[in-house]
Amino acid sequence: MSKDNLFVFLLAVSPLLSYFLGRFSRTLGLAAAAALIAGSVFALGAGGLESGPAMALFLWTLAALAHSARVNADLSGFGEGERKLEEAKARVDRLETALRALKNDFEVLGTSEKKALTLYSAVKLLSEAVDLESAGKQFGRYVKDYFDTSDFAFYVTDINLNVPELFACGDKTDLSSWETLSRLAGCEAPSALTGAVALEAEHAVIVPVLHAGAAVGLFALRLPPAVFKKDALAGSAMEFADEVSFAVKRIQLFRQVEWLSQVDGLTGVYRRNALDEKILEEIRRAGAFKTTLGFMIVDIDHFKLVNDRYGHQFGDFVLKKVGLLLRSSVYETDFVGRYGGEEFGIVLPRADAAGVLRKAEAIRTKIEGETFSQGFETVKVTVSIGIAHFPRDGSAAGELIAGADAALYRAKETGRNKVVDVSGV
Ligand code: GH3
Ligand code: MG
Ligand code: MG
Repeated sequence: MSKDNLFVFLLAVSPLLSYFLGRFSRTLGLAAAAALIAGSVFALGAGGLESGPAMALFLWTLAALAHSARVNADLSGFGEGERKLEEAKARVDRLETALRALKNDFEVLGTSEKKALTLYSAVKLLSEAVDLESAGKQFGRYVKDYFDTSDFAFYVTDINLNVPELFACGDKTDLSSWETLSRLAGCEAPSALTGAVALEAEHAVIVPVLHAGAAVGLFALRLPPAVFKKDALAGSAMEFADEVSFAVKRIQLFRQVEWLSQVDGLTGVYRRNALDEKILEEIRRAGAFKTTLGFMIVDIDHFKLVNDRYGHQFGDFVLKKVGLLLRSSVYETDFVGRYGGEEFGIVLPRADAAGVLRKAEAIRTKIEGETFSQGFETVKVTVSIGIAHFPRDGSAAGELIAGADAALYRAKETGRNKVVDVSGV
């Protein structure tokens, strides 16, 4: 191959060589193109390519090389590429930030959805509850989930006595004690609260549960200091109380109906069937725990005469007052019931025989010393009391009642206004 032919051949293949080398490595392609152009210029300078076709081929080669260089090197885009890379990185950063924010939003959304669901379940529970004791326990679980704390107490106000009664509480709280609550609220009657009380030092809040402007309950909760934010907690406790207030009103009414079904309307003591249940329950308990139980029947002496002399209305007034006196004479854990017209039964769990006798005597003297006055009428009454004891006088409710009845009969027989224990009959 002559020298000219070699140059022509080199020129002809140079664009292809540059292009393919360039595909393999950009630097290699550019270097090949530069070397070939330099070689061609050198050859041209050497005067080997004077013919017209060779010049045309040379020009074509130059154009092709330039094109190859542009395709491979994209010289203009060299800096641009880096800029685009930076832009892409920044976009990725922005997308990552947006993704994180989105995840955060989802978590917040998830939490508030969970809270809304808990609140809905709590309201539904209170709206349908029949067994208030187990409803209270379940409600406590919802409150715990909602506020993420076991340090809380929820009270429902008793309509009859107008005092809040514990309905639900967490298992790690002293807020279920009325003394603690009164101390925290800084007043004797936290039940009278009309707005939230937030206690920075105690990291606790107490809020009233209001329905139609009246307090139907009370809600107190405390959070760990790290997460306690006074205003935020007071706000969410108020919100919670507002949401459940309607259902709490229902619980209040339900309790009242339950109470009315158990309590004698005239005297405010248990009805006979409720008292019978208490006797059975307490006998079972005393049997299981090997403790004792006292039972007494209190009967007003010559009550028929009171009715005859002063009328039934006055008789009713006397009965009501005797009921009140009996209730105030016994422990809260004792049960007073109306056993018949002017007869009352009293169950005294865990009392010993001597204690029951003393209690009966105290009741007798208290009523004997009382003056019953209404309008212009004033009267004094006395009572006779019969006592029986578990397990001494029997292990069944019927035996105890019969025993107390027999003792009462003996008291009436032997002059009235006296206490008789069946063991002495
Ligand atoms: P004793 O000393 O033997 O117990 O005489 P008593 O008159 O108390 O006994 P008795 O069983 O003869 O009469 C009971 C009276 O109690 C008859 C009834 O008029 C009256 N009584 C029963 N329930 C009521 C009531 O709800 N209101 C009024 N006012 N009186 C009642
Ligand atoms: Mg009587
Ligand atoms: Mg009687």
